[in-house]
Amino acid sequence: MPELPEVETYARYFAQYALDQRIARVHVRDERILADIRKETFVRKLKGRTFTEVRRHGKHLFACATARPSDRATEDHWLHLHFGMTGDLKYYRDSADEPRFSKVIFDFDNGAYLAFEDVRLFGLANVVDSPDAFIAARGLGPDPLDRSFTYKRFAEILDKRRGAIKSLLMSQEIIAGLGNLYADEILFQSSIHPRRTIDRLRDAEKRAIFDAMRRILRTALLRDLPPRSLFHHREEGERCPKCEGTLRRTVVFGRTTYYCAKHQR
Ligand SMILES: [Zn+2]
Repeated sequence: MPELPEVETYARYFAQYALDQRIARVHVRDERILADIRKETFVRKLKGRTFTEVRRHGKHLFACATARPSDRATEDHWLHLHFGMTGDLKYYRDSADEPRFSKVIFDFDNGAYLAFEDVRLFGLANVVDSPDAFIAARGLGPDPLDRSFTYKRFAEILDKRRGAIKSLLMSQEIIAGLGNLYADEILFQSSIHPRRTIDRLRDAEKRAIFDAMRRILRTALLRDLPPRSLFHHREEGERCPKCEGTLRRTVVFGRTTYYCAKHQR
């Protein structure tokens, strides 16, 4: 399931291929991908416009569709994509290469295409007035890679909350973008048990979680995870790659959770 680093990769892909391209046509192959918007409205709000900017917040991708790059008087519309479990983007030049599970396709003036595909339909496509308004209306928390998300802010968020640390890391209204895999990895790298309650975390431990979060997300973006990470060992009874303890499986916050019984306290 795409989490923040994967969606950041999609945002960069979108920017690399689809920016500054005029949308000649929009095809909606399966209306079930559209969230709260009619097919005709979705097409009308994007057709003829040019993608001029890409933004990501947590697991949400937004692409600004400007009426004309020079015409700032017309209001921008923002394409909003969420990748659910199986969402993906593909840019291609030959229509024969259209992905099998394409849900929305943009035809550009240069003859190339951008497809948003989604096999299982847990993703969504929409058009919103502004990403900021969407983030506020949804009550999404800060993005952990945002520069304004400092340790001080993280500690303030923790101080106001109760419950298990893993639940907090996964709550999108507290921190936007982390899912099951990254929450487990952050706690593994900072040696904190996933069920540890927030009120029992020492300052040094909060700092360790924050630092691990930043480090793991950044290295995940480089697709260069350290060999001593939990990612490659998500199996009950496996040897811990850090301390030779035994990896255990449990359920926290309704999600399968892996941790080391020895070094995570
Ligand atoms: Zn261990």
